[in-house]
Amino acid sequence: MTQPAHAEPAFPVIDNQLRIGGLPLARLAERVGRTPFYAYDRARIDARVAELRASLPADLHLHYAIKANPMPAVVQHLAARVDGFDVASGGELRTVLDTPMPVDRISFAGPGKSEAELRQAAAAGIVVNLESEREMETLARVGAELGLRPRVAVRVNPDFELKSSGMKMGGGPKQFGIDAERVPAALARIRQLPLTFHGFHIFSGAQNLKAEALIEAQTKTLELARRLAADAPGPVRLLNLGGGFGIPYFPGDRPLDLAAVAASLTAAMPAARRDFPEAEFVLELGRYLVGEAGVYVSRVIDRKESRGQVFLVTDGGLHHHLSASGNFGQVIRKNYPVLVGNRVVPEAGDEAGIASVVGPLCTPLDLLADRMELGHARVGDLIAVLQSGAYGPSASPAAFLGHPPALEVLV
Ligand SMILES: *Cc1c(COP(=O)(O)O)cnc(C)c1O
Repeated sequence: MTQPAHAEPAFPVIDNQLRIGGLPLARLAERVGRTPFYAYDRARIDARVAELRASLPADLHLHYAIKANPMPAVVQHLAARVDGFDVASGGELRTVLDTPMPVDRISFAGPGKSEAELRQAAAAGIVVNLESEREMETLARVGAELGLRPRVAVRVNPDFELKSSGMKMGGGPKQFGIDAERVPAALARIRQLPLTFHGFHIFSGAQNLKAEALIEAQTKTLELARRLAADAPGPVRLLNLGGGFGIPYFPGDRPLDLAAVAASLTAAMPAARRDFPEAEFVLELGRYLVGEAGVYVSRVIDRKESRGQVFLVTDGGLHHHLSASGNFGQVIRKNYPVLVGNRVVPEAGDEAGIASVVGPLCTPLDLLADRMELGHARVGDLIAVLQSGAYGPSASPAAFLGHPPALEVLV
């Protein structure tokens, strides 16, 4: 596997046109009805799930963290393909409760769960990943008010970090989870409360492309779970080992060596099964399942030259796709893979060359491609931003400047 190079997208190009869900992009745009839109390719989502199933140990369950892409059609599609969902808000919980996923395969993580969200979770019967002692006390109280005994897993802020991660979410002082050294006391309190202990959730980071770093974190996660289990008020029935599998976005990014991660997990499972005989083992993935299956498509409204530089002004921009503009957590702005989706390489009579793709917002931050080989694009052409299936519209400031929201389709 190699990174989808800017000129060779992982989606097929037939007659110089990108095909998404089997349709030429211009035809798909007509079918959607207007630009800008996001298209998610269900066959590519399925291929990713199949690849994971083929390499990971069979009894390691695959959960989807829906914050990566909460589009209801995508979540419904994945309901039949993954073993569980992880949600991070009451809104996401409503989305997954519309699917046929059994409630004991739904877990709810995230700091600052409100009392209303904890009531929702208790009433639904899902597993709550406790992020603080306050959540534990509140959930026990609202559970008792409802005559229910909520199932809880303790989200642990580990005493190690996931190295080389795009986003560190564990180790050191963090707002996520309960610090590992305070977990024994929290477990003792769970024993006294009307809560059913279910297991541990240890999520240390996201967007990691380094197999060695993931393997090291998974090994330390299992060690930590073994230590903590000694104080558990009951058998560990759920051991969520986190996720963090990254996807390549930028030039020079190399895809994750899934085979190496899978081999290490396969080697670790016999001892893990022995030590946690009643546990369901879970990997919780977001962008790895959906990120490469999505494309953001906008139309060139204007082609301007300014002092020797070509600007393609499109009807889409950072208000729909903050991360491609470089403003969602990146330190140094880099280009996503971007193509002229309906005419991938220049045709006879085209002016080739370098161009930047910008959006209609009145801010210099609204930049989708900085000086790439897109200069052959004409007004009316379709600009496709690849690797856009995760953290797209739901992670972008749609109201900024009052343009219409992006449409979303699953094809
Ligand atoms: C955000 C998040 C995920 C998903 O992260 P990806 O990088 O999309 O895989 C999984 N679990 C938790 C707890 C999260 O907060």
